[in-house]
Parts: sequence; C-alpha cells; structure tokens
Amino acid sequence: MAITAIKGFNDILPVESGRWQHIEQAARRVFELNGFSEIRVPIMEKTELFCRSIGDATDIVEKEMYSFIDKGGNAVTLRPEGTAGVMRAFIEHKLYAQDPVAKIYYLGPMFRYERPQKGRYRQFHQIGAEITGVHDPLADAQVLNMLVQFFREIGLDEPQLQVNSLGCPECRPAYRSDLIGFLEQRVDALCEDCRRRLSTNPLRALDCKVPGCIAATAGAPSMLDNLCGACDGHFTSVKRYLDLTGTPYSINPRMVRGLDYYTRTTFEMVTSLLGSQSAVAAGGRYDGLISQLGGPSIPGIGFAMGVERVALLLGEKDFCRQPDLFMATLGAGEREFAFRLMNELLQKGLRVEMDYEGKSLKSQLRRADKLGARYSVVIGESEVASGRAILKRMADGVQMETALAADGLCTLLC
Ligand code: ATP
Ligand code: MG
Repeated sequence: MAITAIKGFNDILPVESGRWQHIEQAARRVFELNGFSEIRVPIMEKTELFCRSIGDATDIVEKEMYSFIDKGGNAVTLRPEGTAGVMRAFIEHKLYAQDPVAKIYYLGPMFRYERPQKGRYRQFHQIGAEITGVHDPLADAQVLNMLVQFFREIGLDEPQLQVNSLGCPECRPAYRSDLIGFLEQRVDALCEDCRRRLSTNPLRALDCKVPGCIAATAGAPSMLDNLCGACDGHFTSVKRYLDLTGTPYSINPRMVRGLDYYTRTTFEMVTSLLGSQSAVAAGGRYDGLISQLGGPSIPGIGFAMGVERVALLLGEKDFCRQPDLFMATLGAGEREFAFRLMNELLQKGLRVEMDYEGKSLKSQLRRADKLGARYSVVIGESEVASGRAILKRMADGVQMETALAADGLCTLLC
C-alpha cells in the first residue's frame, strides 16, 4: 500500500501554491514598505524556550507541543509559534545592541498536536511580524494598521479587527483574583477544562466556547474596567491613533490570548466564515517576554496570521499564471523553428508553451485552451517559409497577422 502523509500535515499542491505565493508576496511587500526585514530561524528549539515564554498552563504547552528527546538526550520541540524563537535569536545575537528598535518579520511552518479540521492542522503556516523597543502606543497602532493594510492588499474585507487590553503586572493580578472569586462561585457551571485552569489560567474561561461557560461568565468582571492608570492611558491612545487613520475596529473585552506573555494591547482579526476557526490573525504586546527569556528589559509587540485560514478566505480564485502564447506546430521541422523561437521569447520574459510530443493539431489546441493561454499560433511549413503567421486571441477569437520573430511578438504580447 502506498504511504500517505501524517494526519494533519498537508501538501500544498501546484494548483494551490499560486494563492500561497500571492499571500506571501503581499505580506513581504506590505511589511517591507513598513520597514520590516525578514528573519529566518530554526523550526526546532529547546523545549524550555517554549515552556518559559508561552507558559506552562497554556493549551499549547499543556497538550499541543511536538516535543521529544533527540538522540543526544536533548529535550527539543518543533516550534508551535514564531515569537519565542525570533526573540531567542534577538537576544542571542544581541540585535538590540545596535538598535533596540527592531522591526522583524518571519514566515514558515508551525506545529501543534491539535484535532485536525477545516482551518486547523498539525502543521500549519504563520506569517508574523514583531516590533521591539517601543513603549509608545503609536507602535501598537502602526502594527494594526499594517495588518489591516495587508488584508486590503490581498483583496479581502474579512476578517475584522478586534482589540482589547490585558493590563500589566501592576493591574492584572488584582483583576485575576477578582475573576477567580467570581468563577469560584459558579464552579459547578464550568466545563472540566475551565475548572482545572481556575487557579492557573482563569482568563481562559472568558473565551471558552462551551455554552455552559459562556452563560456562567456572562457577568464576569472585565479587565478593561480594572486597568491601572498607565494601561488605561495606553489603550486610550491606541484607539485614538486607530481613529486618526480611519482604521475600523471593535473592542472585545472578552478576548484573551492563548499565550501567557501578552500585556496591554491584544488583538485578533476575526471572521465568521470559518466556523470555530474564527481567528485569522492574532497578537499583542509582550513587554516582559524579552527579559523573561534572559534578555534586557525591552518591550515588544507583534502578531501572527495563519496562512491556511487566509487562503481559505481567498477561496477558489485561481492565482496560477497563464501562458502568454501557445505555439502549435504541424511537423518536425516546424517544431525546431518553434523551439528556438520559444526560447528567444522566454528570455524576453514572455510565458510561452509548445507541444513537446508531436501530438495532433487538435490535441495541441485543446492543451492551449486547458492551460488558459492568452494567444495561440499555428506554425506550419508556409509560416516558417514566409516568417509570418496568424495569432489568435483565445478570449474572443480575434485574429491578427504578425511576423514570427521574437521582437515583433514581444511588442504584441507584452
Ligand atoms: P485558535 O483559537 O484558533 O486555536 P490560537 O489562539 O491558538 O488560535 P495563535 O497562537 O494566536 O492562535 O496563532 C495565530 C494564528 O495562527 C491564528 O489566528 C490562526 O490563524 C493560526 N493558527 C493557530 N493554530 C492553528 C492551527 N492548528 N492550524 C491552522 N492555523 C492555526
Ligand atoms: Mg489554539
């Protein structure tokens, strides 16, 4: 029996890769326009990196990591997200020494042992961006503007931006105990996960999808009502900057993130089109992460988007590039003529295809159609002799006579 791929690990087939490239190219264009440079870090890191950054009581570390002991006895993990590795590299190479303000982006595969379903896989891909070294809420707003600009650029008006603030080590602990008090009074109505996490990660109850938990937490205290003065001021400024640039957003006071390192601004780009896989991109500020990982006390903010979910939103639209010209030939001599001409045109940057196998004219023209060629031309003995041929525009059948030479064809087709 033939060997199949691992469950939850997908092939991105040639018919889909055009869409992926469209997404990646748009991200590179928008991010680089905003002054971000790419970083490429390993897909495997020491397990302790993720335990220390993401947090032991999170879903990711508790149950989703691909962790194992390698042949040298080292505890290693396939990265479940990008920020931890990027910040590890930022610290290890002292990137902050030249300039604490760094704008970095990354893209690549991530790994989480989850239950595979539409929009949720075990190997998936993220494109993410981070700004370090800026406390000012202007950075938060610009990261959000860039994210919104990206979705506009690829032609989507879904998903929509939601923002929240999770406070800081000054104000979150008091809020957290308030919330624990509130949840303890309703413990019987909570699901098993929320009950278990009550003392380790009580905030997760706020975005639990189990109907009982949604009902039980309806009147829960909100972090937004309990922000300290500095966090409140920060959040107000972020909103003001977004208003200033006309960036549409809504406030979701129940949004919590699945990772421990977030402080203050958190955000998601959400859609109703992908069922419970509603978050297409997510991120926030992580002012304590770099020092928590042994680096200097430098703040950061960033996001990651799930490429599979963006691709699902783009739908079936075809992003494959069609040939500019298909050359059909009648005999062996003409094939040599066409082969030489095809290579001259390729060098000029035109996409040209021809038949390689000496098929019938009918089947060659069928192939031109199937490939979606913009133009086709039939080359026989008389065309080679006269150096002229009839070019056919495939969309409407309009015909035009042209010289069968690279320069002339190039002017016509470009
Ligand atoms: P979810 O609530 O859907 O589990 P998350 O909060 O775990 O998402 P993050 O860790 O914030 O997700 O990752 C950022 C983005 O990466 C998500 O918004 C989503 O688009 C994508 N993503 C996360 N996990 C997966 C997965 N298993 N398969 C595909 N995409 C994913
Ligand atoms: Mg998740």
